Amino acid sequence: MNPGADKVVYLDNNATTRVADEVVDAMLPYLKNLYGNPSSMHTFGGQVMAHIELAREQVAKLLGAQPSELVFTSCGTESDNAAILGALEALPQKRHVITTRVEHPAVRTLCAHLKGKGYRVTELGVNPKGLLDVAEFTAALTDDTAVASVMHANNETGVIFPVEDLARIAKARGVVFHTDAVQSAGKLPIDMSRSAIDLLSISGHKLHAPKGVGALYVRRGTRIRPFVIGGHQERGRRGGTENVAGIVGLGKACELAAKHLPEENSRVKAMRDRLEETVLSTIPDTLLNGDATKRLPNTSNISFSYVEGEAILLLLSRAGIAASSGSACTSGALEPSHVLRAMGVPFTSAHGSVRFSLSRYNTEADIDFTLASIGPIIAKLRMISPFSKGESKTCGGCL
Ligand code: PLP
Repeated sequence: MNPGADKVVYLDNNATTRVADEVVDAMLPYLKNLYGNPSSMHTFGGQVMAHIELAREQVAKLLGAQPSELVFTSCGTESDNAAILGALEALPQKRHVITTRVEHPAVRTLCAHLKGKGYRVTELGVNPKGLLDVAEFTAALTDDTAVASVMHANNETGVIFPVEDLARIAKARGVVFHTDAVQSAGKLPIDMSRSAIDLLSISGHKLHAPKGVGALYVRRGTRIRPFVIGGHQERGRRGGTENVAGIVGLGKACELAAKHLPEENSRVKAMRDRLEETVLSTIPDTLLNGDATKRLPNTSNISFSYVEGEAILLLLSRAGIAASSGSACTSGALEPSHVLRAMGVPFTSAHGSVRFSLSRYNTEADIDFTLASIGPIIAKLRMISPFSKGESKTCGGCL
């Protein structure tokens, strides 16, 4: 198979996913004919509300939640902000927040902002496999702790955190527990009916719905103030005229995700494992970042020592393969990601890291093509690299 210019082997599904055809079909009527405002008194608008409620049921079913426990938002970032800020505002006397050093910026940057506002923020570290120490979490809880926010699965490594255990521990101390499930929803089973988690964020574009829609699960009885203040939409919990087409798309995507979840854990995982095992066993100086088993079934983060992640991505992209790197080029210097730094991955490995993230739309042919391409790309880069088996702190213009 030669993907050529028009066919991309897309292995960057933790960044965003293709919108499922069924989702597009479900959304189209709301972009064409059914454009009424769901809050309108007339039936033309009012009928749309029933479809929002159907979508709420579909999302609730994927999460084992009650439909009334779901608030639609514009994205995962909004859900995370709404959860943490909304809970803090409802508990103004408490000034301590617990989170981790490996959260997505949607939580991490918000927590840095909270520090600036005078909150005390405890950022828990992770071990070299990216795993969290539950005892450290327990020890960090105080009478002043309002919220603990720990992601369900890490976007860069796929490492899964024991959020159910953490939520139970937090509950016993009267602390609101939030989890960012943006990467895990649709990939791991989630059942809020048997959970102690109070607040949980999801995002449409990570599970084959479009960008611009997300949801926040709010356990019945959890006190949280609205983050977007305005009209009475979402029963006063989130102002703003609803993104009807996006919400309908998210509902459909959740229905499909529930159906395809077993496939994520078998076919997708088998493809990911074949890709990973072949790379690690055939290309020298490679290592897997993150725990090998406590991990999302679709994600593989591999370090190729002595080469730059950006250079690998560029050559993969020229071959028609889309993946992503764990480092970012800032001011001409390569900065390994905060996640790999928190894990203590050595610099020479961290800045040559590549994340491959699969979806149900990938095929064995995609994996064959990637495996045929990656070896020669790494060999070529190592041959021309002036830093071969040495250390580089500059990205050489990101090649
Ligand atoms: N949380 C995690 C773990 C993510 O991976 C992302 C996106 O990459 C987000 C939050 C933000 O989601 P959104 O892009 O919908 O704002």
